Amino acid sequence: MKKIAIIGAGISGLFIANLFKKNSNYQITIYEKNSSINLEDGYGIQLSVNSVKLLNQIEFNKFQNDKKFNPNQIDFHLIKCSEKICDLNISDFNSEDCKYTTLKRSDLVNFLKKDLESSIKTNYSISNIDQENQRIKVSFENHETFECDYLIISDGVFSKSKNLISKNKIQPRYNNTLAIRGLISNASKIDCKNISLFLGPDFHHVIYPINPNGDLNFIAIMKYELTADEQKNHSLSDDENFIKRILDNVPFETKEFLDEIKELKIFPVFVSNNFYKPKNNNIHFIGDAFFAFPPSFAQGASQSIEGAYELFKNIESNTENRFFKNRVSKTKMVNNRSKFNQFVFHLSNPLMIFLRNISLKRLVKNKRFLESYLGKIYR
Ligand SMILES: Cc1cc2nc3c(=O)[nH]c(=O)nc-3n(C[C@H](O)[C@H](O)[C@H](O)COP(=O)(O)OP(=O)(O)OC[C@H]3O[C@@H](n4cnc5c(N)ncnc54)[C@H](O)[C@@H]3O)c2cc1C
Repeated sequence: MKKIAIIGAGISGLFIANLFKKNSNYQITIYEKNSSINLEDGYGIQLSVNSVKLLNQIEFNKFQNDKKFNPNQIDFHLIKCSEKICDLNISDFNSEDCKYTTLKRSDLVNFLKKDLESSIKTNYSISNIDQENQRIKVSFENHETFECDYLIISDGVFSKSKNLISKNKIQPRYNNTLAIRGLISNASKIDCKNISLFLGPDFHHVIYPINPNGDLNFIAIMKYELTADEQKNHSLSDDENFIKRILDNVPFETKEFLDEIKELKIFPVFVSNNFYKPKNNNIHFIGDAFFAFPPSFAQGASQSIEGAYELFKNIESNTENRFFKNRVSKTKMVNNRSKFNQFVFHLSNPLMIFLRNISLKRLVKNKRFLESYLGKIYR
């Protein structure tokens, strides 16, 4: 039996653990640095059909219907005057049991961890990776060690494991944007059945349902320069002066939503700069530890799930040497679209905005374009 150590109990680590659990040739252990699995983040997540299809292999289709939602379309608006530009029918990519899904991140994590309780070890923060010969020895800050055949690293965008292996050569970079997120309940002016995307200069926000009860997720992405010290300050999100300064900069029209928001949180968005391939063929990165995108294509969780599935399949069929190259090519495609979306959403020149809106109206109804821009990612 092959021993697999998984570092980090986020979406990608928990999903790959579920897949290996079904195969008796593997024994998995998940090491999580926190004392419990983080279920506090009540915010929402969007899952496109590419990841829902894979989640259904572990019976996500049977997961409680009152905890997830299937929006049909994305409505594009201008923040100014809330004028609607156009709508894009995302349900065109749906099939009978595989639909674009929105839900609370905590509900997804709860679903992913339900059959794994005995395999998760909390309070295990990785401190060293010894990879002599092909056998891998992992050490933790609590002085325990573990030897394994495969090491799967899923400890997020600030991956300490990646720092250990790359000797601090690979660091994420600040994306020059802040994320403002929170929850809204029963907002009268908002469509509770679809995704509403509001575009403004250097700013956009998205509101979408996370269940059928009228609970909505609010997420805004704001262009904002931070000093090097601010970027390193991990308690910046809790600094009241900082929060006030940011909220003062939010467009006037968005402020009406902010008054209704619960659990408001502001945090800097960090993304990956480049890829890192470990020399040891039995060590692999997945999820944000593999590569973190700007959030403007809402593909972070979906790609984490896709990457986890690909690695599982590759390890199962002894073709793990193919994993890195294949994942890099899909990741580049998603990253380019994420960066392009952010650029287009944040345009500030009136002429460019005018041209963007005309193009958007045409492109969202152009099947060939949608098949190429979204279909290549979603299918
Ligand atoms: C503003 C914003 C909005 C987003 N919106 C969406 C969206 O709508 N749709 C979407 O698909 N994606 C979205 N994403 C991206 C998505 O949240 C991430 O891509 C996804 O959660 C990554 O999952 P992960 O498992 O790789 O990492 P994480 O979820 O970050 O999990 C990492 C785990 O590793 C643990 N860990 C960390 N360090 C150690 C250590 N040293 N030792 C042991 N354990 C450790 C952590 O505690 C954590 O449990 C968004 C991201 C941002 C920033």
